[in-house]
Amino acid sequence: MSEHSLPRALAHVRARIEAAAAACGRDPSGICLVAVSKTKPVEAIREAYDAGQRVFGESYAQELVTKAEQLADLPDIEWHFIGHLQTNKAKLVARAAHVVHTIDSPALARELGKRVASAERAPLPVLIEVNVAAEPQKHGAAPVDLLEVMDAVRAQPSLVLRGLMTVPPDDLAAAAATFETLVSLRALHGGVAALPELSMGMTSDLEVAIRAGATIVRIGTAIFGARDYSV
Ligand SMILES: *Cc1c(COP(=O)(O)O)cnc(C)c1O
Repeated sequence: MSEHSLPRALAHVRARIEAAAAACGRDPSGICLVAVSKTKPVEAIREAYDAGQRVFGESYAQELVTKAEQLADLPDIEWHFIGHLQTNKAKLVARAAHVVHTIDSPALARELGKRVASAERAPLPVLIEVNVAAEPQKHGAAPVDLLEVMDAVRAQPSLVLRGLMTVPPDDLAAAAATFETLVSLRALHGGVAALPELSMGMTSDLEVAIRAGATIVRIGTAIFGARDYSV
């Protein structure tokens, strides 16, 4: 078996994004690739950085902070927080993240807004995570609560509402339906002007997400290889 080559895997993912965009007449430059590095060592992140990748995604607050400190010599690296955020970890994330994908309640919006304001930093772009298919094991706001969460984000001067995020079911057909529902929810709540970004698409459903209109895809396994434990 040949050794996992990270630069080659990254190039392959970029090619998948370009092919998927071309297949539906989209401009691939409108699709941001977040390399999901959770559970992977900082050496792997450096290797991806050296291959041109700048945007990385982490799911655990303390892991994000530790890695950001260890890679502080890479000035243009961009950290996206994509995991479930508990209010008691908002302070950590407010310090280290450049974008947060997972606001799912008014209380979390208020707490993160307060923590960003006191961190004396630039306003933080955020997305609201929606549990579109109402799966009990998943996080995210219910579609009926979306407007309330949007209002809570907008009430925080330190937060900038950028769009919606979702984690779909494993089944590809169900994932496609979930992505289309997220697009409809956006249309219902102000459209592209109000919510320009749609964060959807992982290793197994990247093409389906791009066809549905994803502007941010979050890819881990296809870049870094399988994770040591499932999360
Ligand atoms: C781990 C994770 C990903 C990456 O998933 P892969 O299947 O490894 O590409 C994307 N989004 C979220 C929210 C994740 O937790």
